[in-house]
Amino acid sequence: MSERLSAVKGMNDLLPPDSARWEWVEATLRSLMHRYGYQNVRTPIVEPTALFVRGLGEVTDIVEKEMYSFEDRLNGDQLTLRPEGTAGVVRAMNEHSFLREGGRRLFYIGPMFRHERPQKGRYRQFHQAGVEVLGFPGPDVDAEIILLLRALWRELGLVEGRDLSLEINSLGQPDERRAHREALIRHLEAHADVLDEDAKRRLHSNPLRVLDTKNPAMQPVVEAAPQLIDFLGEASLAHFNGVKAVLDAAGLAYRVNPRLVRGMDYYNLTVFEWVTDKLGAQGTVCGGGRYDGLIEQLGGKPSPGVGWGLGLERLMLLLEAAQAPVPAAAPDAYAVVPTAASLPRVMPVLEALRAAGVAVVMHAGNTEGQGSMKSQFKRADASGARYALIFGDDELARGEVAVKPLRDAQAAQSLQPLADVAAWAAQLRNA
Ligand code: ATP
Ligand code: MG
Repeated sequence: MSERLSAVKGMNDLLPPDSARWEWVEATLRSLMHRYGYQNVRTPIVEPTALFVRGLGEVTDIVEKEMYSFEDRLNGDQLTLRPEGTAGVVRAMNEHSFLREGGRRLFYIGPMFRHERPQKGRYRQFHQAGVEVLGFPGPDVDAEIILLLRALWRELGLVEGRDLSLEINSLGQPDERRAHREALIRHLEAHADVLDEDAKRRLHSNPLRVLDTKNPAMQPVVEAAPQLIDFLGEASLAHFNGVKAVLDAAGLAYRVNPRLVRGMDYYNLTVFEWVTDKLGAQGTVCGGGRYDGLIEQLGGKPSPGVGWGLGLERLMLLLEAAQAPVPAAAPDAYAVVPTAASLPRVMPVLEALRAAGVAVVMHAGNTEGQGSMKSQFKRADASGARYALIFGDDELARGEVAVKPLRDAQAAQSLQPLADVAAWAAQLRNA
């Protein structure tokens, strides 16, 4: 035997039964997106490296050290496995002039790649669902995408306040950030003696990220730092108040966190995160905000945008931790077929059942034949099916199949006509 191969470190297989929960979450997401009028987009997993360098900013964690970048061997192009979804969606909208006819509400679900140290809730290939709402400048859509998330939590059986909670902030506009940034640099320089290496390096390139430090020795300096909110002008404050007013009216509790900054440079005005204390250090399940400058920065006609990215692995971990219900993945019925010779007659009946919406698993034999009735019933039971359909030779000779309830000891077995599947399919489906 040759050596067994393994998956790449930090990249996971998703297998049954866990995949059932993923399918259920994705179906819930898609259904919600359609109810809110969001359309699906699918962009390539590989993009030009320049898209992320220009889109996310050179001194972000992602661009500095987390990207899977490589050179196309055939033509020398610099390419990158997408680390996030927004830049690609914006590129696609620009490329296809999609914003010419007005605003767009879009969503995507797919894999992202970041070269990080793998740990619980942090992987090298992970999955995000995301929305991008392009072309609308007002706080109403900021609130809409946040409320959409609350609706998602509720449909998944999560409880806001208990399982996860909302933090929001406003980053203002570039000129307001500049004024704050200068004040911040002055403050940090005045305390240069307690800054660590990372902070010193970022002091002039990205001082806002210094506030994100986890170094306890720097906490007093960080806490005393000038706050951006005090530098916001009237329009920025009005936008922020507009978001808060809708959330208040919708009864959604939030915490204004003046220290909330996001990892990408493209954000302005509203930023937010949904956080949980149930996942240890990887407590941010979803993050997002407004990025009014990004479309123009990537070569499009100036147009506002707002969106979020939701980490699906973290969401699954949270669902597990919160003991949210697991959807049933069992089929309706399991077809017990005693003799292989009868399969040509049985299989068209199963086809008709499936066409009528019944989930039915056919017993497949092995090289020795179909296996004993006992072993077939064992399989039927293990499948979780509610009914066994017994296609015995006697039943088939009479043009019938025996329908045996497997989960309800009181219910009686019945005989059903093969010629009229529609007459009894509903009973299997809706029991
Ligand atoms: P973190 O601070 O945890 O590194 P981030 O700010 O880098 O997160 P974003 O770029 O905002 O994360 O991505 C949105 C969401 O995607 C995160 O809130 C998280 O749920 C998920 N996510 C980000 N990186 C990873 C990863 N390496 N593995 C799994 N999920 C991730
Ligand atoms: Mg990160």
